[in-house]
Amino acid sequence: MEDRRIRDIVIVGGGTAGWMAAAALSRFTNNGYTRVTLVESAAIGTIGVGEATIPPLVTFNTMLGINENDFLAATQASFKLGIEFVGWGRPGERYFHPFGAHGHELHGVAFHQLYLRERQRRATPDISAYAMSAAAAYRGRFARPSREAKPPLSSIFYAFHFDAGLYARFLRGYAERNRATRIEGKVVDVARRGEDGFVESITLDDGRTIAGDLFIDCSGFRGLLIEQALGTGYEDWSHWLPADRAVTVQCDLPGPPDPFTRATAHPGGWQWRIPLRERMGNGFVYSSAFTSDDEARETLVANLEGAMRGEPRALSFTTGRRKQAWTANVVSLGLSSGFVEPLESTSIHMVQAGIAQLIAMFPDRRFDPIERDRYNAVIQDIYEDVRDFIILHYHANQRGDSPFWEHCRTMTIPDSLATKLALWRGKGRSFRDNAELFATSSWVAVMLGQNIWPEGYDPIADSLDPDKVAIELERIRQRYAETAEAMPSHAEFIARCLDNRPAMTAAAS
Ligand SMILES: Cc1cc2nc3c(=O)[nH]c(=O)nc-3n(C[C@H](O)[C@H](O)[C@H](O)COP(=O)(O)OP(=O)(O)OC[C@H]3O[C@@H](n4cnc5c(N)ncnc54)[C@H](O)[C@@H]3O)c2cc1C
Repeated sequence: MEDRRIRDIVIVGGGTAGWMAAAALSRFTNNGYTRVTLVESAAIGTIGVGEATIPPLVTFNTMLGINENDFLAATQASFKLGIEFVGWGRPGERYFHPFGAHGHELHGVAFHQLYLRERQRRATPDISAYAMSAAAAYRGRFARPSREAKPPLSSIFYAFHFDAGLYARFLRGYAERNRATRIEGKVVDVARRGEDGFVESITLDDGRTIAGDLFIDCSGFRGLLIEQALGTGYEDWSHWLPADRAVTVQCDLPGPPDPFTRATAHPGGWQWRIPLRERMGNGFVYSSAFTSDDEARETLVANLEGAMRGEPRALSFTTGRRKQAWTANVVSLGLSSGFVEPLESTSIHMVQAGIAQLIAMFPDRRFDPIERDRYNAVIQDIYEDVRDFIILHYHANQRGDSPFWEHCRTMTIPDSLATKLALWRGKGRSFRDNAELFATSSWVAVMLGQNIWPEGYDPIADSLDPDKVAIELERIRQRYAETAEAMPSHAEFIARCLDNRPAMTAAAS
């Protein structure tokens, strides 16, 4: 039988995407015949941002068999329990998008439906009071869920804030231990096969040629293989997500790191604040059509909470996605496959999702189109779901204090999002479609947080006695608050992890 197995995987680019791919592929193709080679150029460098993550990254690290405390120590990481949004409804308002659910369903009725009904009967605390992650985050506390723990501890979900450069370096060590080869050099030419246009090899500036069966394009926004060589095409979503620039800078931490990211809306855009273990990452995201670079920089610097480290750096981007993330024998991962701005910290997750799908659809040298098509369909769905969720934040603003926010509030939105909002506005219905990244509780957090209150609630909620439900809601709230109070502070928990002391879960603390 003809041997059609993939023997040479060539990854172009050594940013977060490249080294995540190298780490995962070197582990999952550890078969004695597949080689993984990564080419990167120190002269070009990486984008140098991407510091906030979402919970699936915990699974990625676990899948690689990485010890989480080693990872924390190597990457300046702190824990993240969600995002606090400031000023996204009306100026001055704030809400929390927690990782994990709000409360839990009662007798088959969704928690948020019971909350909506209760809210019609009397004043209730903010819905974040019923989320374990939010309860801990607002108290500056953290504990990992333990295997033995019952709810609510088992309902804590977490991710990390980390130094992206250090994470890439950490994964490089991992990949090289798994026999991945790193080559330093700048790709200057791409050779394609005559009959089908597949990429055969790349040439470096020193004349070396590297041939491969499967190429992974992790070259960042330039899309060296997927776009410059194969001309795949890009679907531009700027009409829905007009932000196209960011200016970033680090500063000192004003105190112990908070276990959450903050995203603060300002008249000309929004500012992120990502507390790593020993410094703060900051950035201001804006649309060049509405805000000048100088205004953006001034807003960023004026809102830093600690002494600035270094000079602000400017970045440009076009929100959208590569029309086919996988074309011919090239799979694009990371910024080369698309970019939806960093409001919900989803980009690194897109890399992870791409790797997971590639492993699920791993080809042989025939490159069966059915595997490629399936890959592309899944990646398209993930991108579009994330896009809609991000648009929701912009569209549902009631700021009215600048042309930028007015534009976002009045712009047309994708039909898929319009349908979701219509379902919500009637009876508070929200559903998680297919492999959608964001769960119902995420949509509920943002919609209520930005004052989209439905007219009613699902009539099924009336099958439960309202007084008994009210008692149960209060019991949940109190239990979460008490559980959070009993956790160590975030800083103390990190210190324990770094000391590698045994009391690492909340049950043990
Ligand atoms: C403003 C902003 C904020 C962000 N914040 C977040 C966040 O909080 N959370 C999150 O998940 N994501 C975030 N992201 C996205 C995140 O930064 C990226 O998804 C992630 O860093 C992956 O980037 P990358 O590896 O695809 O590209 P890059 O980091 O750009 O790496 C590209 C690599 O390709 C190499 N290369 C390019 N051309 C050549 C060549 N000719 N020859 C050889 N090598 C070459 C480069 O040297 C580099 O190694 C943010 C992005 C932006 C723009």
